[in-house]
Amino acid sequence: MLKNKRALVTGSTSGIGLAIARTLAAEGVEVILNGLGDPDDIAALCEEIGATFNGANLMQPDAIAAMMGDIGPVDILVNNAGMQHVAPVEDFPPEKWDAIIALNLTAAFHTTRLAVPAMKAKGWGRIISTASAHSLAASPFKSAYVAAKHGLAGFTKTIALELATCGVTANCISPGYVWTPLVENQIPDTMAARGMTREQVMNDILLAKQPTKSFVLPEDVAALALFLCGDAARNITGANYTLDGGWTAE
Ligand code: NAD
Repeated sequence: MLKNKRALVTGSTSGIGLAIARTLAAEGVEVILNGLGDPDDIAALCEEIGATFNGANLMQPDAIAAMMGDIGPVDILVNNAGMQHVAPVEDFPPEKWDAIIALNLTAAFHTTRLAVPAMKAKGWGRIISTASAHSLAASPFKSAYVAAKHGLAGFTKTIALELATCGVTANCISPGYVWTPLVENQIPDTMAARGMTREQVMNDILLAKQPTKSFVLPEDVAALALFLCGDAARNITGANYTLDGGWTAE
């Protein structure tokens, strides 16, 4: 059923987005990758997956508009690109705040507003946003990320209502800790912010949040995204699916 569908997966040169791109491509979806990275590595990924690539910097609304024009209509939009910065609010660099809001929240507004007209015209569309357990609960020192992810969840509910009669669904997937470069790279800052060792951050901060005591896998997130693209999910809209090992149940 996903043959003849086209998908843009933002932030798909790495981590969760790459797993979603691989999974959709394996189902016959024509996938467009987006993200940062080494051009040779990205070319190899495109070859492996059978995808094309658009390297728009999603912090720039003009670049997003150019990308959406260049790639043409998509049936599936996965708003996945994101970044993190960990610091106490009084030390949080304002430019990091702006960057996190731009990438994790505002970019999804721009891709969505530009993708929706073609989806409405076709009477079919799937908008899936990678939010986070931090769209539902907070952690200290992540003010910008938590604000952006709460915003993304609210944005998704709003567009789900607007598109409810158009055959277009909009949902969030909210993982707990998934073992990707985004998590690995925040360990040094968390060590500094909390005065902890690497092992303490891994066990007392990251996995302490997840009752299952194990990291979510990118492929787990991709499997849920694939389900949300299917016919059986036609009446799932405005939802925020946790995939967090029980984190937000507490
Ligand atoms: P990642 O760092 O592996 O991947 C991030 C992707 O975003 C990469 O492809 C990167 O190139 C791209 N990107 C970064 N800046 C960009 C920019 N300016 N323009 C375009 N693309 C850009 O991280 P990940 O863990 O796979 O995270 C993917 C999403 O999942 C993010 O929105 C993140 O907040 C969310 N998430 C991650 C976790 C986790 O534990 N890893 C948990 C919950 C939510």
